[in-house]
Amino acid sequence: MKTFDIPEQDEYFRDHFSGVSEDGKRNWFYPQKPKGNWHNRRVWFTVLILALLFVTPFLKYNGQPLLLFNVLERKFIIFGIFIGPQDYWLFGLLMLSFMVFIVLFTTIFGRLWCGWACPQTVFMEMVFRKIEYAIEGDAGKQKSLNKAPWNSDKIIKKGLKYTLFLTVSFLIANLLLSYVIGVDEVGKIISEPISDHLPLFGGIVAFTAIFYFNFAWLRDQACTVVCPYGRLQGVLMDRNSIVVAYDYKRGEPRGKLHKGKDRNEGDCINCHQCVAVCPTGIDIRNGMQMECVNCTACIDACDSIMDKVGFDHGLIRYTSENAIVNKTNKLITPRVIGYIVVLVLLWSVSGFMILSRTDTQTTLFRAPGSQYIENKDGSVSNLYTFKIFNKTNHVVRPTLVLDNSQGKLVFAGTPDLTLNGAGMSDGTLFITIPKAELKSRKTKLKLSVYQGKEKLETFETTFMAPAY
Ligand code: SF4
Ligand code: SF4
Repeated sequence: MKTFDIPEQDEYFRDHFSGVSEDGKRNWFYPQKPKGNWHNRRVWFTVLILALLFVTPFLKYNGQPLLLFNVLERKFIIFGIFIGPQDYWLFGLLMLSFMVFIVLFTTIFGRLWCGWACPQTVFMEMVFRKIEYAIEGDAGKQKSLNKAPWNSDKIIKKGLKYTLFLTVSFLIANLLLSYVIGVDEVGKIISEPISDHLPLFGGIVAFTAIFYFNFAWLRDQACTVVCPYGRLQGVLMDRNSIVVAYDYKRGEPRGKLHKGKDRNEGDCINCHQCVAVCPTGIDIRNGMQMECVNCTACIDACDSIMDKVGFDHGLIRYTSENAIVNKTNKLITPRVIGYIVVLVLLWSVSGFMILSRTDTQTTLFRAPGSQYIENKDGSVSNLYTFKIFNKTNHVVRPTLVLDNSQGKLVFAGTPDLTLNGAGMSDGTLFITIPKAELKSRKTKLKLSVYQGKEKLETFETTFMAPAY
């Protein structure tokens, strides 16, 4: 992709990972405090994202959470749509749609998600990093503090920082759990004796430890080593994708600014400010790299340098490779159209399935190995096994009704037909039909499930009789 010559000493980036040093040790980054227009915009966006993240678990629709991802009980609520264990196909379809949407979004807008909305970046750069800057100061001061002996100043600063890190990690663990089991259950863990909720409390402690480890130590490596989305960028993006990019046509050949002399070089004055602010330690001038989370810090850093030297903003900016090279950009490419078509199809199928979904799902099969029974009054009975699944998140009390027959339906025993949310009831029952109704060996029976006067579902089964 690159069409300019890179100084030989700068070619190292091609086969080196910025997070690891020559001797295989972790490169610990001390990015300089970002400031500028883009950072201010990100701060406001972060306020919005955090408000949404913390408020959403409290939002309810029809008495249930707006969003719930209860992986423990395989119950999900997506914008008020309850998806229980019986609807795993719908969940799969919605997840597939979401993945295609991510692919489409990334093809057009690159890693916009990473820089602006990903909880990892939002919490790392806008919460934990801010705490660090507030307590330890900017990059230089942090480095000095880490090298300093353990005097009272260092103990107080580090103690305060890590206590705050732990507190925020605990808060995030509770937040995560409120999306998994609901805010009401989290409230119970907090207000009731811990001994009543030991497993879930253990979960909060474990996730607090995981978040603390992530934000205090793992940091940029969560994006560059762990996150699969970052690693897929190479195949998801193309020359038209909008990314944070260095305009090498304008910037090269780079060279120091010499006051009073005519400048024959490009606009990049090789000040390395874009590298100094980068939280993943890369040089954006080497082109798009897997480590770049599109945090915009280098845009602000470069713009402030451009202000100082009197050049136009935007040497590093949101743009595409095609826009840099050809000065044109096409957002809607055949590839994008292809993704949109697939996405519309998936959304249409999902929408149809959601709208045609019934509140219950009933299976009624003739009991294995059973024959028809000829009764003394001339009627015929068949024995069935049944299962009724409640696909809603509230209690359902179903009744089974024969739709197209004068026959009767009698349960064997007394099955409990009060179904809790996502609950199930099963048992056996007899269907008895007067002989006069039976014209052949096999009769198709239509049945319905009602709750009160509301019909929830209709289904069919087969009734066997002697050949008359
Ligand atoms: S901040 Fe701008 S001028 Fe300075 S090295 Fe980076 S791209 Fe060049
Ligand atoms: S290269 Fe720029 S946008 Fe990418 S991570 Fe580094 S500072 Fe952020």
